[in-house]
Amino acid sequence: MFFVLEFTLFHFFLLFMVGFGYDIHRLAEGESLILGGVEIPSSFGTVAHSDGDVLLHALCDALLGAAGLGDIGEHFPDTDAQYRGISSIELLKRVMTLLGNEGYVLINIDCTLVLERPKILPYKAAMRERIAEACGLPLKRVSLKATTSEKLGFVGSGEGIEAYAACQIEER
Ligand code: MG
Repeated sequence: MFFVLEFTLFHFFLLFMVGFGYDIHRLAEGESLILGGVEIPSSFGTVAHSDGDVLLHALCDALLGAAGLGDIGEHFPDTDAQYRGISSIELLKRVMTLLGNEGYVLINIDCTLVLERPKILPYKAAMRERIAEACGLPLKRVSLKATTSEKLGFVGSGEGIEAYAACQIEER
């Protein structure tokens, strides 16, 4: 009887929420290209107030979105000098702390990077590891995909880079 009651209550209070995030950055010669917390050798990179990690910014917004905690711009405004050049891995860790303080546990992450070049396949494993470590997740629950935009639009011309992220969290 006790076990039946415990099982029922456990499932009654289990609450899952989904989050979605998107970000875009302009690309320019002479800037650094940091994606998923990994610096990628490139003659061009993202123009940004922080380190311009478009992937982690999309991920932060997905996490905040799932928890109903606003967006990355509200928490870390680009008008605030303390965030100039800040590592987005650090921002991601702060977002995870915010979620933890609200009693949320991260279940999984799924991200897509959209860029024309350089090829990021050689760096994907390192990015997944950095994200998994910052979020306290096993590697298999951090998915990272990449695609080009088939030379179409501003991504195709190399003017910009986009990232999408989704996540699921659980309220404990
Ligand atoms: Mg951004």
